[in-house]
Amino acid sequence: MGGSPLRILVVGAGIAGLAVARALRLAGFRPDVTEKLPPTERADTGLYLPGNAARALRRLDLDGPLRPLGEVIHRQRFLDASGAPLCEVDLDALWVGVGECRALPRAELHRVLLTGAGGAVRHGAEVSAVEPRPHGVTVGFTDGTCAEYDLVIGADGPHSAVRTLAALGGPPRPAGQVVYRAIVRDGPRVTDWTALLGQRAGFLVVPIGAGRLHCYADEAGTTVPTDPLARLHELFGDYGGPVPEVLAALHGVHAEITEEVELGRWFHGRVLLVGDAAHATAPTLSQGAAMALEDAVVLAESLKAASDVDAALVAYESRRRPRTRWVRDRTRDRNRTRDVSPALRDPLLRGRGGRIFQEHYRLLVGPL
Ligand SMILES: Cc1cc2nc3c(=O)[nH]c(=O)nc-3n(C[C@H](O)[C@H](O)[C@H](O)COP(=O)(O)OP(=O)(O)OC[C@H]3O[C@@H](n4cnc5c(N)ncnc54)[C@H](O)[C@@H]3O)c2cc1C
Repeated sequence: MGGSPLRILVVGAGIAGLAVARALRLAGFRPDVTEKLPPTERADTGLYLPGNAARALRRLDLDGPLRPLGEVIHRQRFLDASGAPLCEVDLDALWVGVGECRALPRAELHRVLLTGAGGAVRHGAEVSAVEPRPHGVTVGFTDGTCAEYDLVIGADGPHSAVRTLAALGGPPRPAGQVVYRAIVRDGPRVTDWTALLGQRAGFLVVPIGAGRLHCYADEAGTTVPTDPLARLHELFGDYGGPVPEVLAALHGVHAEITEEVELGRWFHGRVLLVGDAAHATAPTLSQGAAMALEDAVVLAESLKAASDVDAALVAYESRRRPRTRWVRDRTRDRNRTRDVSPALRDPLLRGRGGRIFQEHYRLLVGPL
């Protein structure tokens, strides 16, 4: 169907929506993209992209603009709370033939995707009604306008309005952690992805270029503290390694709870969900962006190859389910290990940690 005059609306201009718009344009479609927020309202945080994200970006022909951004990450180092080494993962070996791992400011990836999507995003336009019809969808916006489409793609995140409006599912489920994010500008020199594992809490720093660090921390729980910075000092004040210097350099900290979306189906008539709207997980494996980018590649391929939209949606969901299920299940596995005490866990990680952590990506290094 590539090049057909299909009227497609992409709802949401996050990573999933912009990547879908890019992939569809490359396949010869001309989708509309609508985003409820104005162009500037994006939090200043970092992002770690494992090798399968790089492969998807290459398939979207965006590896060129991405190459100068952030830092290529060659190694993951796992330390105990005192800063003593537990184990390592050689990322170049793990993702060989797939793509390099990279960490960068989220806003920089967003800029690349926005340009790649053709820039034609209607900002400040929130979808408030979605009515599936036999061969199309009527979409209403909060400004009172409405429009007809042949296909609506809900890329509107874990709290997807499209999901609710199309009766595909309810609100996300708390996944059990409070997470903290910040970009540190005057912190210590860190060259690797470096995580310190404590008791039901962890602290991660990754270089994202120009001397900046992406700092990510989590603890078990479901309540966001009123003063996230104070809470970080309380939780990690006695950690070793780079943590004291990072804490001293921290200013604005974003805190939120992790959430999970698990659905029985991803489409209803001509309304399809992609990215976090369909399959959000806790960010433990850093696979959210990669899954959204892979969704985009596979959706465009499915639409291009199928004889009609309905067949394309079936083909898309059956190709994407196994990989997103793998991410969800491995994420849950890894999160369950938080309840194991460091006294039991750390000797195991010193012996076999590298192999255990590598195994979590086994399916993902395979073909899309
Ligand atoms: C703390 C944390 C750390 C993370 N770290 C990483 C990481 O290091 N690496 C990684 O790969 N992933 C990470 N992730 C996951 C990753 O951020 C997400 O998987 C990814 O951003 C999902 O993108 P999305 O486009 O599906 O959703 P979103 O980014 O939520 O985008 C949805 C968009 O839709 C818009 N929208 C919502 N409702 C409407 C509406 N009704 N009408 C129009 N527009 C609407 C929103 O404004 C938004 O712009 C992390 C997540 C969290 C919470």
